[in-house]
Amino acid sequence: MPNFSLSDDVFIQAASRFPTPFHLYDEAGIRKNARALNEAFSWAPHFQEYFAVKALPNPQILKIFKEEGCGVDCSSECELLLAEMAGFSGNDIMFSANAMPPAEFDHARALNAIINLDDISDIDLLAAHGGIPETVCVRYNPGGDFTLGNAIMGAPGESKYGWTRAQLEPGLKKLKELGARRFGLHAFLASNTTDNSYYPKLAGILFALGAELERTCGMPLCFVNLSGGVGIPYRPGDEPVDLARIGEGVRQAYIRELGDPGEKRVGIKAELGRFMTGPNGWLVTHATHEKKIHKHYIGVDACASNLMRPAMYGAYHHIHVCGKRDLPAERLYDVTGCLCENNDKFAIDRPLPEVAVGDLLVIHDTGAHGFAMGYQYNGRLRSAEVLYTEKGDFRLIRRAETPRDYFATLV
Ligand SMILES: *Cc1c(COP(=O)(O)O)cnc(C)c1O
Repeated sequence: MPNFSLSDDVFIQAASRFPTPFHLYDEAGIRKNARALNEAFSWAPHFQEYFAVKALPNPQILKIFKEEGCGVDCSSECELLLAEMAGFSGNDIMFSANAMPPAEFDHARALNAIINLDDISDIDLLAAHGGIPETVCVRYNPGGDFTLGNAIMGAPGESKYGWTRAQLEPGLKKLKELGARRFGLHAFLASNTTDNSYYPKLAGILFALGAELERTCGMPLCFVNLSGGVGIPYRPGDEPVDLARIGEGVRQAYIRELGDPGEKRVGIKAELGRFMTGPNGWLVTHATHEKKIHKHYIGVDACASNLMRPAMYGAYHHIHVCGKRDLPAERLYDVTGCLCENNDKFAIDRPLPEVAVGDLLVIHDTGAHGFAMGYQYNGRLRSAEVLYTEKGDFRLIRRAETPRDYFATLV
């Protein structure tokens, strides 16, 4: 079930303070998830979550993660700058490479971030841009399909990321020659999965592979990075993950492949984005138009520029109408934005209670890959972001763009 932890009063109060549309984030919910994750892995040696900055790139949010003992996962110059702004440095930053300008390695190395190499060719780039550090991480791509039970959960063979199995030995040996003293192993094989066996299966693969590579490359494995991919229940009826079970499953895999976690030999890292903030964000928007032609449309003051996932992936985002939570969903609507682009629809054939122009609509699960994917197509601007604090205040953590921002880059 999507997150209904905030009452409609909260959304109505927020909308009386800030013009719609805006994203509202719940600080208490974000902290709760960070604590639950740390608790589920409290058995693990040196466990650390590196919040994936791309999911919600706002320094005020990153500061919350810092207070909860998390690090950050960055993969661009601006994300490194955001991390710095929020006070992160050194091993609290993971820098995930991917066909990026090599000068970004210089920046990441200057911050002493942990570097995660996406390809064997990155070794030379890193050597020339900041140098090979003593601890280096490599990203593994097993190819083929990734399955859990009978279900295909991902297609690593079609994914642009990571190193093949055959590249790992020569690559790690070369890293060792160039000064690396220990390595971490990373993989991201399924996205948005609420299957509790994902992390345990991935962990088993990485622990076993890491142990083998230690022997063949003569360098110790110092951590396994389980990356992101843990999903959230976007649809009513979807089950949330059980973090305690996930943590226990990873512990069993650790004991099986590496032995006693009490010996603190191999650390565990994660880079969850969606799971941490996704359910703790809502896009708040007013119904501004009603239109009846071949279908029944409700036009709202938000558009795909504020939340691209439905237009881009056909993703489901739950919607509720403030003050009408308990009314029967007896109408069928397409809920649309104002872009001149027919995929600008937050929902298609969605059962909702009768919607009137002026109603406040709340679009759920926008706290990750929501605002962050925003764009300015059609001259539509990015919205504000508001934090609902633990004390119950509303804090503007990003103002809405104005036409001045839109024109600021013109020469
Ligand atoms: C996107 C990404 C994540 C976060 O993924 P979620 O699905 O949001 O958990 C973590 N690590 C890397 C390298 C990523 O690219």
